[in-house]
Amino acid sequence: MSDEHNEIVMEGIGVSPGVVISRAFLLTSEEERYVEREIEADEVPREKERFEQALVATRHQIHDIQQQVSAAMGQDNAGIFDAHLLVADDRSFVDEVLRGLSEQKRNVEAVLYDVAERYSKALAQIDDEYLRERAADVRDVTRRILRNLSGKSRSEISDLQAPCVVIANDLAPSETATMDKEKVAGFATDLGSPTSHTAIMARALGIPAIVGLHDVSVRVSADDEVLLDGNKGLLIIHPSAERLEHYGQMVESRRHIESALAELRDETAETRDGYLVLLSANIEKPGDVDAVKSNGACGVGLFRSEFLYLSRDALPDEEEQFAAYDEVARRLAPDPVVIRTIDLGGDKFLSHIRTAPEMNPFMGWRAIRFCLAQPTIFKTQLRAILRASASENVRLMYPMISSVSEVQQANTMLEEAKEELRANGQTFNEDIEVGVMIEVPSAALTADRIAPHVDFFSIGTNDLVQYTLAVDRVNEQIAYLYEPTHPAILKLIRTTIEIGHNHNIWTGICGEMAGNPLMVPLLLGIGADELSVSPSVVPMVKDVIRKLKYTQAEELALQAQAADSPQEVLDLCRQLTQEIAPEIIELIE
Ligand code: PEP
Ligand code: MG
Repeated sequence: MSDEHNEIVMEGIGVSPGVVISRAFLLTSEEERYVEREIEADEVPREKERFEQALVATRHQIHDIQQQVSAAMGQDNAGIFDAHLLVADDRSFVDEVLRGLSEQKRNVEAVLYDVAERYSKALAQIDDEYLRERAADVRDVTRRILRNLSGKSRSEISDLQAPCVVIANDLAPSETATMDKEKVAGFATDLGSPTSHTAIMARALGIPAIVGLHDVSVRVSADDEVLLDGNKGLLIIHPSAERLEHYGQMVESRRHIESALAELRDETAETRDGYLVLLSANIEKPGDVDAVKSNGACGVGLFRSEFLYLSRDALPDEEEQFAAYDEVARRLAPDPVVIRTIDLGGDKFLSHIRTAPEMNPFMGWRAIRFCLAQPTIFKTQLRAILRASASENVRLMYPMISSVSEVQQANTMLEEAKEELRANGQTFNEDIEVGVMIEVPSAALTADRIAPHVDFFSIGTNDLVQYTLAVDRVNEQIAYLYEPTHPAILKLIRTTIEIGHNHNIWTGICGEMAGNPLMVPLLLGIGADELSVSPSVVPMVKDVIRKLKYTQAEELALQAQAADSPQEVLDLCRQLTQEIAPEIIELIE
């Protein structure tokens, strides 16, 4: 407790606002936490025995899982565990660990980990898809052996009983997406950055979060008291009494502001001089519709449909997808619902479709590239979306378009899907609006060629920033370079909007930039027709819009156009928000 320990202040990147004070829950994996130690010569036999026992337990477990999978999903799906057994039985692998124990005089965990890393790295570099995939098998099996050596199982988020702050090295987007807000009061990770999908999920769920803390997962112990300030990106271990007192007052004052914002729910997103903005929400699953409604958004500008495909053992079929899209469309009708076709790859992977490891997954086999190469998967989804469009408020959008030809190919498949439905006598909206995400610089720069093939553009700034500035959106080491107010980004946004308007098509913005209250006036001034943001920030964005005059937004956009640096633009944005809505600055800083 605070009087027994000195407080430790750690600074990372606040990615989801809010303050929580709670106990820490360590989500560990043994391979991250095993302790390396030197051993005496007479300890070697004991270490070898521990290794042999852990191997036997591992083989039993793999057999058990194989049987369970085979019973539930058939022999084919159980086949991948043959490869795991091959690793656990691989004599040269096992011998190398035993030899390392005798020669290096280090504990078995350390020796095993090094041997396995050497094996998997060597496999990953081989120019043969089958062998490259074995690298993941070696890592999986090693993780299991390490777990058996420690005698513990990995702590899971589902083990949580009371609300806690989850501390982890990293979290997969699928792990974050399935968090229960009642149990996870906040989370903090060593890795990550503001536009990783894990961070986006945290904001969508309204769970305060910090990423990029480097070594929080080894500095915090289970059950430590921690204070997490998601606005400032501070994680304080064993907070002092003064610190708690200060935060107590701040939380109280923010609560007042938030309850005032909640009153805006049924108000329009209209500037003081009468400019009406379409303020919609980004969602990941049908259950998010509650948050869209309770926060007062007008429909959905981005339904990240790939989350229906994650954290499961098989692809969702047409019926299941139709049910999900139809539910969202009906519950929000007549407000629009833009369903984005699956954007897999990057930092979102299917566990049951094995893809080769990629050096640059965000620039790899992702999104529309994956879909065009997998027509059966793509057309199943297109039919499901089309069927849901019978309720007329559904729009369809392709992700990661980088050329006109991709739009044409996707549209051809859409026509085929329509034809299949007609042949079956199934109803859908023949005039469904089809749009593309503009999130690759080549698409922004050739928007005039793309425009004749679509009904709308939606600018995905999360990817547009990473591809334009050459800054990996999930790498915390270069997060300081990830600057949405960079003049190059503003230029691409402006170009896209102007081209959209010249072709009479509406242009929205659905990246995280649109949900940053500081940047809202700037984007409106540049001419965005729609802002689609995380449901939890809708009240703040609406407040800024309602306190703004459109002429102020235009003036800001002009000043920004003349600015040289991202910081200069950000300062201008902050000044205007401070002037018109100081309470928002208090909430976010
Ligand atoms: C974007 O890239 O801005 C976007 C909205 O898509 P995602 O974050 O899912 O890549
Ligand atoms: Mg994107």
